Amino acid sequence: STPVASFCALTKAATNGLLIKGGDYLEILAKIKVVAFDKTGTLTRGEFSVTDFQSVSQDVSLDNLIYWVASIESKSSHPMAAALVDYGSSNSIQSQPEKVTEYQNFPGEGIFGEIDGKKIYVGNKKMATRAGCEIFSDLERDGETYGYIFLENIQIGKFSVADTCRSGVAEAIQQLKGMGLKTAMLTGDSHSAAMRVQDQLGQQALDYLYADLLPEEKVEFIKELKQQGPTAMIGDGVNDAPALATADIGIAMGVTGSALATETSHITLMSNDIGKIPQAVRLARRTRRTII
Ligand code: ADP
Ligand code: MG
Repeated sequence: STPVASFCALTKAATNGLLIKGGDYLEILAKIKVVAFDKTGTLTRGEFSVTDFQSVSQDVSLDNLIYWVASIESKSSHPMAAALVDYGSSNSIQSQPEKVTEYQNFPGEGIFGEIDGKKIYVGNKKMATRAGCEIFSDLERDGETYGYIFLENIQIGKFSVADTCRSGVAEAIQQLKGMGLKTAMLTGDSHSAAMRVQDQLGQQALDYLYADLLPEEKVEFIKELKQQGPTAMIGDGVNDAPALATADIGIAMGVTGSALATETSHITLMSNDIGKIPQAVRLARRTRRTII
């Protein structure tokens, strides 16, 4: 291959906001058959707002619950966490991170924290299982993301958050499909939240939709997709890092994504513009023709 053509292409890509960590990846990108997207923070903005927040325990006041959750979530970098901290502020309840004596993040599930001597879990249904809890009070808001709050092993609260698609995502996916590629969504969020994004993108946009996935399950589906040909994965989260590493090409959302996703990726998207991805594939294909 000619290093010059590849160097020019890498420079051109960089000018367009795509940092490609070497000419080899450009060659793989030219041959890509499948493009898999993470949902939260990748197809969507990852800017959640709280649409509902309730205490389900007579012993815990709503204000106290908001204070616990906002304080514990201030220890998380998940996009949902920021929404919960903001929800506190907008209810005049400041999060108090210094009150959190211990915490642990569970990617794809939620967060555990100890505050005021109380052991609290915030997260989805998988988190409930981890905490050994039953959800006795659920939500019924179609297509939104649900969260639950547990004190030790008793549910004490529930909330829902909503997010919106990034602009240009539907067009970018249509372009990829027009180039003969298959598209997929791999999300840790619920099936109903995944379906809502699918609806916003247009029914035919995604060939495959996998929801409720743990980070290692994202890896399994990437391996499955790879049987169809070289596969790219685009993601932003800590929970996406193993899948990004397993894909033939891992692409990280460079601006809002986690440092781990960026380190693990082969390509970093220096803007949050998903439209750069079909552009990059086109550039890679052109470069390949120049090289051969
Ligand atoms: P995605 O794959 O769509 O980016 P994630 O794997 O990051 O989603 O998260 C999956 C789910 O885990 C979220 O939808 C949420 O229910 C739960 N979750 C993850 N982190 C947190 C957190 N800090 N607080 C509450 N819930 C969380
Ligand atoms: Mg994500």
